[in-house]
Amino acid sequence: MKETINNNADMTPEEFRKYGYEIVDWISGYIRDIKSYPVLPAVKPGEIKSKLPSMPPLHGETFEKIISDLNNIIMPGMTHWNHPNFMAYFNSTSSMPGMLAEFLSAAFNVNGMVWKTAPSSNELEERMLEWLRDAIGLPQNFWGIVYDTASVSSMHAIACARENIPGINIRQKGLANAGVKPLRLYASEQAHSSIEKGAVALGIGLDGVRKIKVDKEFKIIPSELKRAIDEDRENGWFPFCAVATIGTTSTTSIDPLDEIADICRNENIWLHVDAAHAGVTAILPEMKWILKGIEKADSFVVNPHKWMFVPLDFSAFYTSKPEVLKSAFSIVPDYLKTSEDNSVKNYMDYGIQLGRRFRSMKLWFVFRYFGIEGLMKIYREHLRLGKLFAGWIDEEKNFERLAPVPFSTICFRALSANRSEVQINKFNEKLLEEINSTGKVLLSHTILNGKFTIRLVVSGIRTAENDLRDSWQLINEKFNQLSDRF
Ligand SMILES: *Cc1c(COP(=O)(O)O)cnc(C)c1O
Repeated sequence: MKETINNNADMTPEEFRKYGYEIVDWISGYIRDIKSYPVLPAVKPGEIKSKLPSMPPLHGETFEKIISDLNNIIMPGMTHWNHPNFMAYFNSTSSMPGMLAEFLSAAFNVNGMVWKTAPSSNELEERMLEWLRDAIGLPQNFWGIVYDTASVSSMHAIACARENIPGINIRQKGLANAGVKPLRLYASEQAHSSIEKGAVALGIGLDGVRKIKVDKEFKIIPSELKRAIDEDRENGWFPFCAVATIGTTSTTSIDPLDEIADICRNENIWLHVDAAHAGVTAILPEMKWILKGIEKADSFVVNPHKWMFVPLDFSAFYTSKPEVLKSAFSIVPDYLKTSEDNSVKNYMDYGIQLGRRFRSMKLWFVFRYFGIEGLMKIYREHLRLGKLFAGWIDEEKNFERLAPVPFSTICFRALSANRSEVQINKFNEKLLEEINSTGKVLLSHTILNGKFTIRLVVSGIRTAENDLRDSWQLINEKFNQLSDRF
């Protein structure tokens, strides 16, 4: 007989305890057995949705039923970012201390819009962003705020750049009526698409984004940036912002920040630095060089949710000019005025969102659990594994490497004798598909100079040398099988 329950009040703390332990057991088993799951699920679009009822239940259901559907409906459609062989995109693995912190922030459910509504959340956030700032060696005058993603962080950077244009008031009048020439933003051809999205959102438009040529190592050519600015000024544009990327999305190339920063200073252009993935490695003394010149930048973004084992989402945005960020966004209605307004920074004044989660809890747990030394050890191992894989590619005549490896992202492709570039591209596309469809490893791709490029990233907290060796073996197996057929 079907049980009808009526959950018209919250769970009791006793029930919570029971099911809470069940969920914790579930998660601990999931992580313990993570390698038994295919990295990429074998599902077709629409398959998961079709198993979900078209309407919510009228009556409450048992927790057992919910967990059973989690296992039967949701799990088959999971791409396992936590899998050690998830080596696609930029991995963001969740550490277990990070998961536990997420649990707590949901429990408190504070909204840190102003200081008073969540003093601990807001002050922990300030302190955590100071820890992170100092750990990676950003200047002391950089002030930080947590947003959800790097895309949103960079949009705020571009908003600052716009607000910072002297003598005009876009905030008040709107772009169309502010009496400014068409604005121009500069970023490398290899910059992340979020820069263009930010420009779209802020009324700069895609025409307002000028892509700067890169050298053969995929880094901005500073003289090309200078030339573009000069040319634009002559042609009636208003250069206002430039973005340097430390660890571009395709190849993790490192733009020459120091030189770009000098150009921006001379030209009075806001410099934003996008280090979403790779910035955290500057915790290592031997990697500090990647941020050389950062003291001349105006803003900076790094994502602890990418390579610092903090569960999604967590993007750290820094600026040396928080007053510009505030003047761009602060609007305080009467009902949000508090008596502490003059003595605290209310985070709602520093961005588009009012409500904000207790994200700093996650970074706190991660920092304290691993310590700086623990993090350094993990990064050193990832960087070592990246070089190791690059070495395997370089030694194997069937493969070629297509970009330098400053971190642990390797861009490569398979070669096949006597074939045209078009055929080689097709071969590699097929090869990637065959590798990924095994469910044993997940890689991704990019296009470099017209070449279909396979990309492997080592940044998962559970990825060890034997996982990399297994992946390399699988890549070779699939290469051999495909070569016979192709
Ligand atoms: C991943 C990435 C982004 C986008 O990050 P989100 O947090 O997903 O918005 C932007 N820039 C770079 C360099 C990245 O690696």
